[in-house]
Amino acid sequence: MFGQRITLFRLFGFEVKIDLSWLIIATLIAWSLASAVFPTYFEGLSAATYWGMGVIGALGLFLCVIIHEFSHSLVARRFGLPMRGITLFIFGGVAEMAEEPPSAKAEFVMAIAGPAASVVLSGVLYGITVLGGVGGWPAPVIGVLSYLWVINLVLAAFNLLPAFPLDGGRVLRSLLWGYSKRLTWATRVASRIGSGFGFVLMFLGVLFFIRGDLVGGIWWFLIGLFVRNASVGSYQQLLTRQVLAGHPVRQFMEENPITVPYQIPIEQLVEDYVYKYHFKMFPVLEGEHLVGCITTRQIKEVPRSEWSQHTVRELSDGCSTDNTISPDADTTEALAQMHRTRNSRLMVVEGDRLAGIITLKDLLRFLSLKLDLEGRQISERDE
Ligand SMILES: [Zn+2]
Repeated sequence: MFGQRITLFRLFGFEVKIDLSWLIIATLIAWSLASAVFPTYFEGLSAATYWGMGVIGALGLFLCVIIHEFSHSLVARRFGLPMRGITLFIFGGVAEMAEEPPSAKAEFVMAIAGPAASVVLSGVLYGITVLGGVGGWPAPVIGVLSYLWVINLVLAAFNLLPAFPLDGGRVLRSLLWGYSKRLTWATRVASRIGSGFGFVLMFLGVLFFIRGDLVGGIWWFLIGLFVRNASVGSYQQLLTRQVLAGHPVRQFMEENPITVPYQIPIEQLVEDYVYKYHFKMFPVLEGEHLVGCITTRQIKEVPRSEWSQHTVRELSDGCSTDNTISPDADTTEALAQMHRTRNSRLMVVEGDRLAGIITLKDLLRFLSLKLDLEGRQISERDE
């Protein structure tokens, strides 16, 4: 469920995607608006009207979150930071940043842009609500508008919590970074505070739960868990980047990987290669020439009884920017590519020649060794 993303549309060159988890949240929001919030504040309307208001309210919230994320992305682009797109997921949006911001000032402006947009939006919606009140607009319209101006303030306030990597935590990190000139230190401090905030929220969740507010309890616990994981994760991500940056793929690749000839049947591939070497991916050769690769994922798609009737050539994937990388590429690039394509093994290719294979497992082994031996120095190194 989580991690399944659907692209909705493109705007200003950014892809807007939703994580499927957002659909659950949107339904919950529409439901709680229709069944609790609107009936409490705007009495005497029909159930169908409440539902209509609930659905439009949830859609409005969705648009407001997109506007919030777009302001981050547009500012990021002004600072020359490549942004992959915007993904709406369980707790709002995430503007996907491919790199760390270039300076403390850039990070500050980028981080504050989202909440600032939400506050401005809230002000505008409040103005329209007041106008509507004076003009005697129908109650359902006023109801949805009121909800939206309030929720934008809530959105701004929640995101301004100093819990890295929420916006407030980024603001905090940029201040620490600007003050100390040390990105790693600033990230470590911001991430610890973020993680602490996560704990507090989880604790509050448990407290609510015990006191009988089951839904509220679960809700706060989940938000806390999310904040905590995200803050720990983003610090580790920074460390990983620092350890691997500047090292070419060549340094970590295995130079003589096991390859398979393209004409053998799948049955033989499984018996003589997969069960023998236990790899999930094998480069496929036609003579000396690299033609692609075959993975256990593709083998699984063919029923066992048909393994003798198909050859490796029929099932294998051609070489693409998803499964190959240059030996001179930076290892952080390889890691990003593995993450993006969910391939834990990449073929290292020079021209049309296979130079080796780089695997996530080897990278992680190197990382843990390096952090084990000199972790403190790395995390305290000044930039
Ligand atoms: Zn934000």
